[in-house]
Amino acid sequence: MRNAVQAPRLYRNALMKDGRTGNLAVSDGQFVEPASLAANADVIDLAGLLVLPAFVEDHIHLDKSFVGDSWRPHCLADSLGERLGIEKQLLAAALPVTDRAHALLAQAHSFGTVAMRSHVDIDASLGLANLHAVMAACEPWQNRVDVEIVAFPQAGILASPGTADLLDAAIREGAGVVGGLDPSAFDGDADAHLDVVFGVAERHGVKIDIHLHEPGWQGIEQLRRIAARTTAGAMQGKVVVSHAYALGDVEPDEVARTADILAEAGVTIMTNAPGNRAFPPINVLRGAGVRLFAGNDNIRDAWWPYGDADMLGRAMMIGYRSGFFTDGDLTTALDMATTDAAAVLGLERYGLAIGDEATFIITDAENTAAAVAAPPRDRRLVQRGAIVPSSTSLLDTLFSRHDTQQGYRS
Ligand SMILES: [Zn+2]
Repeated sequence: MRNAVQAPRLYRNALMKDGRTGNLAVSDGQFVEPASLAANADVIDLAGLLVLPAFVEDHIHLDKSFVGDSWRPHCLADSLGERLGIEKQLLAAALPVTDRAHALLAQAHSFGTVAMRSHVDIDASLGLANLHAVMAACEPWQNRVDVEIVAFPQAGILASPGTADLLDAAIREGAGVVGGLDPSAFDGDADAHLDVVFGVAERHGVKIDIHLHEPGWQGIEQLRRIAARTTAGAMQGKVVVSHAYALGDVEPDEVARTADILAEAGVTIMTNAPGNRAFPPINVLRGAGVRLFAGNDNIRDAWWPYGDADMLGRAMMIGYRSGFFTDGDLTTALDMATTDAAAVLGLERYGLAIGDEATFIITDAENTAAAVAAPPRDRRLVQRGAIVPSSTSLLDTLFSRHDTQQGYRS
């Protein structure tokens, strides 16, 4: 079914992101000029339903989530070291990585996500086991969810001897991005940590995505280090800093100065608008020319119990926590979960223009802003021209043989 050639089809009266109503013509899995369709092409009248680009999830951890497994009550921890210990313990007792990653891929796809960047833990005790397990989970999802893997040193690089070589090996085996983690706070030697990360990237010509939770000035210092190395290595556009919480901590003047440095160096910022933590001011950074995008990050794992892999829900969360009220700002939140995230992955033929892959979402909302403010449950993914069936609700199945009106009193 995945690669089957779909019959030419015209979607009439689609409400587009810019508020106009238009027609989308699809043939051979791509958008074509409506006039080029044969007169007998299939026609679907969308009657003003909203059409959005498909979602792109650019920060997820497919190896960490308990989606597909049983609920694990959250365990409190006093330190990062303790958190990592709890995580190791919980994951050792969980279903295999491949099974859980598969379940999370299925859940993300059911919400309309078609591409993602997944961090995968690489450390001295795991070796490349999680990488191999996640790659096995992704295999059957090829052409439905394209996954770019980050070799992520969750236990540090210097703090977990042997990890530097493992990062090299992970890239050789198919990871497309080398990760990093709190260069000064975790490994205690920012330059030594970044030497390894940028060294691996340079040797293999791959991208970089560094988790940076370091607060305040400490974090700002890391951002500047990363920007300087990005410029020195001519890696503009290829380096992401995930979280960059420090940009939510420091004074506006300092944010502005650092934003200019990041924009100049072409360093991109990922945020998931974390629950109880200051995070980067999106509009200030965008105004300075910094690219930002969205990701869900942890989803129902040892770090926190929240999350469902819905990028439209994440866009809502980002708007909610950023104080986004205007239609323009709400649309920014959507862009971070669609076009801006797609650009980070370098997805070709992503979008709704003629010649792009005919992959999009049809949903029931008055406009783009309304879809972000209150993500509609009713939505359908069309992928390369094929309408992806939605799964039947458990409650629909349960009640299908019963008269649901019986005994109802209004
Ligand atoms: Zn993360």
